Amino acid sequence: MTLNPADESLAARLPKGVLREVSPAYLEEPRGRYFGQAGLVAAPRDVEEAAAVVRACAEMRVPVVPRGGGTGLVGGQIMPEGPAPLVLSLERMTAIRGLYADEGVMLAEAGATLQQARDAAAGVGRQFPLSLAAQGTAQIGGVLSTNAGGVNVLRYGNARALCLGVEAVLPSGEIMHDLKRLRKDNTGYDLRDLLIGAEGTLGVITAASLALAPVPAETGVAMLVVESPEAALQLLSLAQARMAGGVTAFELIAGEGLDFLADHFPQVRQPLDPRPEWMVLVEVGLPAGLAADAALEGLFVAGAEAGLVSDGVIAQSGQQAAEFWSMREHIPEANRAVGAIASHDISLPLSEIAGFIRDAGAILASMGDMRINCFGHLGDGNLHYNLFPARGRHRDEYDDLRRELSGRIHEMVVTRGGSFSAEHGVGRLKTGDLARWGDPARLAAMRAIKQALDPAGIMNPGAILPMPT
Ligand SMILES: Cc1cc2nc3c(=O)[nH]c(=O)nc-3n(C[C@H](O)[C@H](O)[C@H](O)COP(=O)(O)OP(=O)(O)OC[C@H]3O[C@@H](n4cnc5c(N)ncnc54)[C@H](O)[C@@H]3O)c2cc1C
Repeated sequence: MTLNPADESLAARLPKGVLREVSPAYLEEPRGRYFGQAGLVAAPRDVEEAAAVVRACAEMRVPVVPRGGGTGLVGGQIMPEGPAPLVLSLERMTAIRGLYADEGVMLAEAGATLQQARDAAAGVGRQFPLSLAAQGTAQIGGVLSTNAGGVNVLRYGNARALCLGVEAVLPSGEIMHDLKRLRKDNTGYDLRDLLIGAEGTLGVITAASLALAPVPAETGVAMLVVESPEAALQLLSLAQARMAGGVTAFELIAGEGLDFLADHFPQVRQPLDPRPEWMVLVEVGLPAGLAADAALEGLFVAGAEAGLVSDGVIAQSGQQAAEFWSMREHIPEANRAVGAIASHDISLPLSEIAGFIRDAGAILASMGDMRINCFGHLGDGNLHYNLFPARGRHRDEYDDLRRELSGRIHEMVVTRGGSFSAEHGVGRLKTGDLARWGDPARLAAMRAIKQALDPAGIMNPGAILPMPT
């Protein structure tokens, strides 16, 4: 590998054998909006090596960009501007260090993929309930650093709720040992919580203590047709009242998304005919003795009697349940195939959602001819509100309108007490939104925390907070 003198000098200070070839795999992100740069890529084998790498970077004032699976959707994992950073990849720290089935705890290194962690938990008869479509590639360090959510937040909470402790390398190069297996530990400021969701700006997570959950004895999945988002929300309330905490997922799906699927993934079976305007995918997980099919049938009947549900289908086998989920998980891919003008990962108080969808639809219709695919984790108040060109038109034709459209949507969301970034984070894509919509006192506290922990500003500069000038 040929290096420039500065990178060569840094390379000489790194532990032997940590360097990797700088290749596009470390510089890309899934939406293709940004392409990164790197002077060096280092992949430490253990926390001591990771600490040595960060210490060397701190001494030489070289930025460090932590990299997990690279699946982040807001550009936090690549640094296209400023001095060329060292990319610190966790790909070689993949061990499951400990499994404590009776405690419901797993110790996993940050480079283990979410799927590996889920499989390890299943191997001892437990579940690690965080689940999202990118789980085969996304790593534990990445999902914690973005505080990822996924489809089971309704029942089990997001990554933060499932993390009991972390081991991390701080920007000084010191190792923070906080890998506790404790559910209770009130001993001062919670640095674990600071690192979770920090998108690599306050340190490198090298391992985590994760909470496991029992596997429900009975599971079931249904697709139910609802008249409107309002009816879907009333159905959610009904489902929660009937299932006593047993609803594990409640996903809203719009007819527009089903059309996109039919156009671009005709092989994905759509069980509901005619194609509904709105539907929900409901998953339940129940204790032994409560049949999931019967519970879902009961929900269907009660929903129909209340005028909320007009049609539906309950999965008759594990394979059919997987097909239902596959349909839901193909929607983002179908969106990519259509090509969005703008995508929004928003959350709202549940009682504001129906009004938002109604008002936003009317306002956008007055701004231009476009299609809206509004879908997502309704049970968490989290919607993916994505805009697409009208049939026969291309997204480029909306270039002049894009910024205004997103501005209007975020304004409507924030005015209703919602968030402009529910689960993907801020990264580099939404630093402007954070500056625009963030509470000033909260932003000042965030800058103070960054300054205190990373005075030289080497950890992922430009992510969350703008690059210092
Ligand atoms: C198809 C698809 C579906 C998705 N579905 C969901 C969903 O349903 N819910 C949801 O919440 N998200 C979803 N996401 C986003 C997902 O949460 C993130 O992609 C994932 O959590 C990031 O993990 P990663 O290992 O790929 O991290 P990367 O993309 O590599 O990094 C993400 C950020 O974390 C930082 N980082 C990574 N590892 C570390 C570490 N060890 N220490 C410190 N910082 C680190 C990076 O610097 C970057 O800022 C989806 C993404 C895709 C592509």
